[in-house]
Amino acid sequence: YDQLTGLSNRYGLLQKIAKSIDLKRSKGIDFAVLKLDVERYPIIKAGFGHTLSDRLLVEIARRLESWNIPSKVVARMENNEFAILLEGVENLSVIANYIEQLHQLFSHPVQLDEISVSSKTRIGLVTSDLEGVQPEDFLRAADTAFDCARNDREGTVFFNHSMQQKAIHRVNLEVNLQEAIATKQILVHYQPIFSLQTGKIKGFEALARWLTPDQRWISPLEFIPLAEETGLIVPLGRCLLAEACAQMGRWKNQFPDICPESISVNLSSLQLANSDLLEDIDRSLLAAGLSGESLNLEITESVLMENVKTAINVLYQLRERSIGISIDDFGTGYSSLAYLQSLPITALKIDRSFIMDIDTNSNSLEITSMIINLSNQLKLKVVAEGIDKDAHTNVLRSLSCDYGQGFLFSPPVDATAATSLIAA
Ligand code: C2E
Ligand code: CA
Ligand code: CA
Repeated sequence: YDQLTGLSNRYGLLQKIAKSIDLKRSKGIDFAVLKLDVERYPIIKAGFGHTLSDRLLVEIARRLESWNIPSKVVARMENNEFAILLEGVENLSVIANYIEQLHQLFSHPVQLDEISVSSKTRIGLVTSDLEGVQPEDFLRAADTAFDCARNDREGTVFFNHSMQQKAIHRVNLEVNLQEAIATKQILVHYQPIFSLQTGKIKGFEALARWLTPDQRWISPLEFIPLAEETGLIVPLGRCLLAEACAQMGRWKNQFPDICPESISVNLSSLQLANSDLLEDIDRSLLAAGLSGESLNLEITESVLMENVKTAINVLYQLRERSIGISIDDFGTGYSSLAYLQSLPITALKIDRSFIMDIDTNSNSLEITSMIINLSNQLKLKVVAEGIDKDAHTNVLRSLSCDYGQGFLFSPPVDATAATSLIAA
């Protein structure tokens, strides 16, 4: 191994990048910083991680050596993540060629002494034409691109500035979200679900809203995915569930005769997998003086499918408490009809995308009609989401759809406004 030059660590790499920046001659590409990983191999778990990643480092350097790259430095970052500085590259197609070869290298088994490693690599890349000259900017940019490569089909992502903006925005948002949960900036709004036959409110869906200290509203489409990725969804979901149940309890007291049947709460996959879920639910129901029938949980197909075994087990325990279970966004996911029969669910919510053009698109009409028939056969309730025109209601009524929800009836509103809707 000693014969190989150009092996380094993070610190060494930063110094080399600094030097490359100083020597940078042209406005075009002089060098590129590339970060890649080799997915953890089982053997690593057995305790040989360090040596194996040392060997990988050497292997990567050896291959680069054989590709006649003018100058390069390979550094081990952490675990099985490596970074490469390529100097003297003239254009993107040269770099693209190296990247292709790196992907190839690990897609076939590589023999490292007695261990054979094959794995999918992902690569994040930044080239020297990036404005802003700090060495760590390049390394950080490569990091950012590398993070994005996780979701890339080809496994390669070139850094660009909007990515950086997004990364910064995300970090800020994450810090603020933690704070927002702790200081109760996340509120619950309620959107009524109506009976399409009688026009009465059947229930409400609880939807999270973030009101920042400077009075800006942030959409759940922005912060729920972040909360899911960071695990914050578990404590946040617990608070939202408690608040939604508490509100339902207040309505029950206030309107003993005309109170809607149930409150619907959305559940993310981390919540479903969390072993405290049932305990949290029991506690929220108890504190609100509610029984299980007053609560309905909305779960998407993909959340269910992510961990079918645990999910089914939890669903049965929910049903023992008479808690309702709806499949949310139905029709967009797996839509496997076979699994529907085997799951203890009580309702389907037809995704908004079908309702949107149900009056003009025969495919949407056909799919919706099929879902409604299916629900009837399986004795499931069916709710149409996203009704925002009279024409939608008319079509859905003619298909004998039970329930509807949408801007036509009411957008999600705060608890006070929702209370007025019940009293009206
Ligand atoms: P979702 O569960 O499918 O919620 C329905 C979304 O459709 C809501 O968006 C609602 O405002 C919107 N909507 C209702 N009627 C109409 C309509 O007629 N037209 C249109 N264009 N939209 C309509 P919102 O409140 O922005 O929520 C977006 C998503 O965020 C939800 O989709 C849900 O996946 C997630 N979410 C919201 N609150 C929570 C929560 O407390 N927990 C979890 N896990 N997810 C939540
Ligand atoms: Ca929902
Ligand atoms: Ca939905």
